[in-house]
This record gives sequence, structure tokens and C-alpha cells, in this order.
Amino acid sequence: MPHFDYPCPDCRATTSLHDADCRFEGTPWVEVERAYVDIVSVLTGGPCDEETLRQEAPGEWGPLQQAALDRLTRDERVSEANSGVLRLLTAEEFREEVSEPTREPMRTLYLKGSVPGCHDNAVFAMIAWYEMVGLSWPETRENVVNWLRETGAWDRGGFEETTPQELVEKKRHVYEAGYGWKEKATAAKRVIDRYHA
Ligand SMILES: [Zn+2]
Repeated sequence: MPHFDYPCPDCRATTSLHDADCRFEGTPWVEVERAYVDIVSVLTGGPCDEETLRQEAPGEWGPLQQAALDRLTRDERVSEANSGVLRLLTAEEFREEVSEPTREPMRTLYLKGSVPGCHDNAVFAMIAWYEMVGLSWPETRENVVNWLRETGAWDRGGFEETTPQELVEKKRHVYEAGYGWKEKATAAKRVIDRYHA
């Protein structure tokens, strides 16, 4: 099955297997990719406001283009200043800024680490997060292993595996499937908040 460089703007699928309720199910991938490329090509020329972007995008602006822009903004590939100016982050900026999550629920997971009762969800979410921001599997594995150690999660116990490396390696399928992080992260944050309350 072919994989695509850009995720579906609605369900984040990168293959033709969309989520059941995805509104772009059946949309040809060439159109999805063109919507992204149109946006990125304008923003590569420099920051501009949304109105300018709509006008200068080579293709016609429709719901797919709007959804692609929203996706790029939500995934923090495009930053939106208070003044409404959209700016494409450089690859380096993106990796730096986004690999340290600043928004909830990922911020709590990242800073406080996992606690017994949510290890599965927390590790799943961290791996899915790093996949989303574009880290390779070796980078992801290293970051998640360090996170398990540095946040004290590993010392809190509750793992079946004997090392953090073994644990993370067993979750490689999460990275490969490109699952979303939000649901698992939200569930894990609830448990972490209770633990520290
Ligand atoms: Zn979809």
C-alpha cells in the first residue's frame, strides 16, 4: 500500500485507509498532496496573511485547502502570529520547537513523565508524537528512552520489560502505523495529574 508524505488533513492517515468518519475519504491523494504543496509553495516565498495565501495559492481554494492549512497549523508546521501572519517553520525550527511539546496534554507527559497505571498510554503517546513531528525511529527511540529515565518514570516501576530500550522497541508498531497521540495522551495526563495531586 503506498504511503504519502502528507497526512490526510482530517484523520491524519498517510495511506488510503482513512478513519471511518473521515470527510476526505475517497478524495484522490493527488488532490490532497496538491493542496499542501500549494500552501507550502506560497509560504516558502515568505510569511503572509491568510487572505493573501488564499489568493496566491495556485489551485482554487476550497474545503480541502482550508483543512490542509488547519492541519499544518495544528501540527505546528506553520506558525500563526497574533497579527494573523502565517509563517512556515524551517525544518530545523520545527524539530527544535515541536520535539519539546509546549501544549497540553503532551506538556504534562513530557515534563512529569509516566506513572504506574498509564505507562502504556504515555509511551504510546510519546512515540506517536515523535513520529508526527518527523523524527526517525532511532531518534524517537532515543528520546523516549531518555524521557523514561530522566522523568523518573522508569524508577517508579510497573514495567514488565527489563530495560527502557526493550520497552520502547516493543512499541515500534506505534511508530510504524503513524497512530494519533491525542487520545492516549489525554488519558495518560488524567492519571498523571491524579498521581501528583
Ligand atoms: Zn482521512
